[in-house]
Amino acid sequence: MTDRPRCRFAPSPTGYLHVGSAHSALCNWLFARANGGEFLLRIEDTDAERNRPELTDNILDMLRWLGLEWDGEPLHQSNRFDEYRAAAERLIAGGTAYWCDCTSEQVQARNKERGGKPGYDGYCRDRGLERGPGRALRFRVPDEGVTGWDDVIRGKVSFENADIEDFVVVRSNGNPTFFLANVVDDEDTAISHVIRGEDHVNGTPKYLLLRGALGFGDPPVFAHLPFLVNAQRKKLSKRRDDVSMLNYKERGFLPEAMRNYLALLGWGPPDGVEVRPIEETVEMFRIEDVNPSPAFFDHKKLEFVNGEWIRRIDLDDFIARAREFVDGVDEQTALRALGPLAQERVKVLSELPDYFDWITEPADDTRSWDKAMKLPVAAAALDGIIDAYGDAPWERDELHARFMALAERLETSASKLQGPIRVSVTGRLVGLPLFEILEYLGRDESLARLRAGRARLA
Ligand code: GLU
Repeated sequence: MTDRPRCRFAPSPTGYLHVGSAHSALCNWLFARANGGEFLLRIEDTDAERNRPELTDNILDMLRWLGLEWDGEPLHQSNRFDEYRAAAERLIAGGTAYWCDCTSEQVQARNKERGGKPGYDGYCRDRGLERGPGRALRFRVPDEGVTGWDDVIRGKVSFENADIEDFVVVRSNGNPTFFLANVVDDEDTAISHVIRGEDHVNGTPKYLLLRGALGFGDPPVFAHLPFLVNAQRKKLSKRRDDVSMLNYKERGFLPEAMRNYLALLGWGPPDGVEVRPIEETVEMFRIEDVNPSPAFFDHKKLEFVNGEWIRRIDLDDFIARAREFVDGVDEQTALRALGPLAQERVKVLSELPDYFDWITEPADDTRSWDKAMKLPVAAAALDGIIDAYGDAPWERDELHARFMALAERLETSASKLQGPIRVSVTGRLVGLPLFEILEYLGRDESLARLRAGRARLA
């Protein structure tokens, strides 16, 4: 290991930042912070057709939101084509790359004819083609031998060279491919540790062969992180699963919770305390302890961790974060008075509107209404409570005591009695504690709502 390890997160801006890439970013960040190293950011935007600038913005925004600040300026591969072309020239000069004019249709047709394996068949290897329009440059993979590495997470991994196709390093349009740009950049930025997803395992022998051909020295250390899978044990995919980090943010997951949970995928703290500040995880995280088996991305657990974090922040912070979810709810009165009660209950901030939508008038929730008002006790409950509250000091304990006395008198349970009252006042059967709500609304408004409920029932 070099004195000051350097790792990088190298997303391709072909989609929004998803949980799998965020996991890679976090592991790199943790590794760098845990080892006094540097965490670089590189935007792998060589594929002009698939990249969109707003996707790069999203990736940077989400990394900042997660608190995964990178060191220095992000490197954009689109600014470095000259370096990649120079590397390609070195491969040509060294005889480890050759020009090829095969179309993919021709390659496929030949493979089909031969009943051979997929991939490039080496047709142009010895044709001695010169460079020219429409010609791609391919790397000449040795016919024999084995290429492998000692993966920090997976142990020894190796591939027979005979199983690796002669892959393209410069496309027929003159642009470098991912393989070439990736290797050149890691060398030029002195990356000591490549920490990336399992989907790159198969590309790593190509990486190593290219490095060798370019005369680069010892390769970086590799750590290939596990796949993230859904409940069906299928690899997370943007078509099937909810993977966009922006969605999680918009649904009211806190960045503290998100990075806390992501750190638990494939890794666990030695003392078993899972919900904890990231600073503590930095102290404990060891990349070699990451488990190579697929890690289950468990929504329930993520929600649990988020709920724990919602309870950890102080009220001012909670109000500041809740604000955008309860637009129109008065901050100084409603959120300050009732915020702590909501803070104890929600798992994600997007549940908040349901807790505050009765403030100006009862919510319109037919199912709650029907369920509560079909109870035989409904009319007596409303009559009784209107009567009991008429002259009550308007304070939650007193309101609660009178409510309990009424339950006893009507010989009914507190939960049955609560239904018609709650639905008249808030429109919903579940929510914040009833007596706090009544106290908040005040005598006149509460009694008006109870009377309106009773009138609607009659
Ligand atoms: N650009 C690659 C990706 O988004 C990452 C390559 C790497 O980390 O080496 O999957």
